[in-house]
Amino acid sequence: MNKTMTILSATLLMAGAVTSCQKTTSASMRSAYDRQFEDYPTYNGDDLELSVDSTGTHFRLWSPKAEEVTLNLYDTELNGEPYKTIAMTFQPENGTWSAGEPEKLYGKYYTFKVKHNGKWLDETPGVWAKAVGANGKRAAIIDFAKTDPEGWDTDKGPKVDNFTDVIVYEMHHRDFSISPTSGIANKGKFLALTEHGTTSPDGEKTGIDHLKELGVTHVHILPSYDYNSVDETNLQQNTYNWGYDPQNYNTPEGSYSTNPSDPATRVREMKEMVKALHDAGIGVIMDVVYNHTAENDGSNFELTVPGYYHRHRDDGSYSDASGCGNETASDLQQMRDYIINSVKYWAEEYHIDGFRFDLMAIHDTETMNQVAAELKKINPSIFVYGEGWTAGDSPLPVEQRALKENVAQMTDIAVFSDDIRDAVKGHYSNAEERGFATGKPGNEETVKIGIVAATAHPQVDFSKGNNSKFPYASSPEMIVNYVSCHDDLTLTDKLRKSMPDATDEERMAAAKLAQTIVFTSQGTPFMFAGEEIFRDKKGVHNSYNSPDSINAIDWSLKARNRDQMDYYKGLIALRKAHPAFRMTTAEQIAKHLEFDDIDSEKTPNLISYTLKDNANGDSWKDIKVIFNGGDEAQVVDLPKGTWNAAVKDGKIDTEAGLGAFEKKATVAPRTALILVR
Ligand code: CA
Repeated sequence: MNKTMTILSATLLMAGAVTSCQKTTSASMRSAYDRQFEDYPTYNGDDLELSVDSTGTHFRLWSPKAEEVTLNLYDTELNGEPYKTIAMTFQPENGTWSAGEPEKLYGKYYTFKVKHNGKWLDETPGVWAKAVGANGKRAAIIDFAKTDPEGWDTDKGPKVDNFTDVIVYEMHHRDFSISPTSGIANKGKFLALTEHGTTSPDGEKTGIDHLKELGVTHVHILPSYDYNSVDETNLQQNTYNWGYDPQNYNTPEGSYSTNPSDPATRVREMKEMVKALHDAGIGVIMDVVYNHTAENDGSNFELTVPGYYHRHRDDGSYSDASGCGNETASDLQQMRDYIINSVKYWAEEYHIDGFRFDLMAIHDTETMNQVAAELKKINPSIFVYGEGWTAGDSPLPVEQRALKENVAQMTDIAVFSDDIRDAVKGHYSNAEERGFATGKPGNEETVKIGIVAATAHPQVDFSKGNNSKFPYASSPEMIVNYVSCHDDLTLTDKLRKSMPDATDEERMAAAKLAQTIVFTSQGTPFMFAGEEIFRDKKGVHNSYNSPDSINAIDWSLKARNRDQMDYYKGLIALRKAHPAFRMTTAEQIAKHLEFDDIDSEKTPNLISYTLKDNANGDSWKDIKVIFNGGDEAQVVDLPKGTWNAAVKDGKIDTEAGLGAFEKKATVAPRTALILVR
């Protein structure tokens, strides 16, 4: 199995790993091997590896046990010999090695070489390269002030009062713009998101104008730091990758820039993307993968400080909670500081508005708490969430892991709800299995766990939950609800595999119901790019390196599935207009959200609840939300008064003008009915 092939397993195994984590009863410990690193001196200055000021260019590499370190200076990003090699000087008190040159070396490149146990390791750009040449082998010295787009000084992302106000749109740069149907010039590039006025062949808006039309508050971009798998010197090859194979954590990926060989271009273009989105009122969340590295011994971590940054078993072999061959050691001080300083750097230099932590439970809760606290000091609107599971066992004790089940021990951190995901659409890896929205009984209580954002509620019996058995969240701001993401089948493909005899029209109705559950539930809703136009990936569940023919969004679907697009727009508008769907405390939810008593043994696939008494200051006094995932229409009794429909038979009207009901209402099969009074 090659390196990139193993990358996917991290994402594939994830939800399965939740179960295995729950089964782990005895807490494991830091291995005997890793205990040797505990007394390494640490260094937390912001001048690590490179700083340039009026006195010249300064280098400082942290490598406490190195026997010698040399600095190589180059004129070029690739090939050729160094024009100068300098022996660096050791400072034992903080474990760093330093060197300097009296000029500003803008335009030059550098690497380090570390001697360890009598052996010279391969060259490395270090772990703090903020600019690199093509393929990230040499770090570049550039003037960052010159990379700022016009107006950058005053650039700001959207202000977020509560994280339940955020509506996340998860996208990959290449999926989003590579199809000729996007009408976008800079296909597959950061700059794609700076182009206005682009349209599909039918004249439908694409690109950033599409995002504005849809109404999402934030885009979540798949890994956009420098990753390993795409050859930046041969972009004509059109290689595709999700990018869960980190190489240089603190520099943008070169293949998303128009010129990977000019180190400043990727920096400037990523900033231009952020600026364009901010100008459109949209925040930018980055997917970050500090939990493992693409290479083991060849990673920049190992070439800089052998052993330190990764976790090991007692015999010194790499432990592998990522399923990708290794895992990092956030519980050691220098690695913890590294993660914290890296996200701070992205927030400050690139104005990033949020971070999605891949396999977050490989990190410890203490690190994640410090991440959120430090980011809050920079910008209180920064949203941090992650996958609250690992892909394999770890030496890190279960109680210290940033698991979904430990989210209440974290502040300002949210986790994905695999509860609602699997209960609504059916199991993530069992393609044929249906869920609540597609007529499979037995998921009602787990959907309710999703509706109350996994907070304690007097009418929800957590012991009947499919995935989680206790109310693990103490606030709805701790939960991200979704039915699909880049992993596994798209919602469209899942519905095609699990409803083989249905028409696409029937499947689109089921998709509407599934997303209505997500967008009306407490917590933060999250959707995968293109679902709003019923995009698919031709049934490929793990498309991490599939060609564009699988991954590209075909924008001609927008005109064809215009009704689906309008429904998603309506769901987002409804949620934005009505704070009842965005409560901020568990107490509010317990008080204002009341389920109707339905015996799910007798009437499966039916859930009805009321958001009552102007919940969270809503202008609507009472909102009745009814989901019918079954094959038959259902009749529901209504309390007295006139109830006006805001959602009915696959249509949405935020003014609730879809008809009036008294005493009883009929809910068509596979639809949501939302009534207000
Ligand atoms: Ca790269």
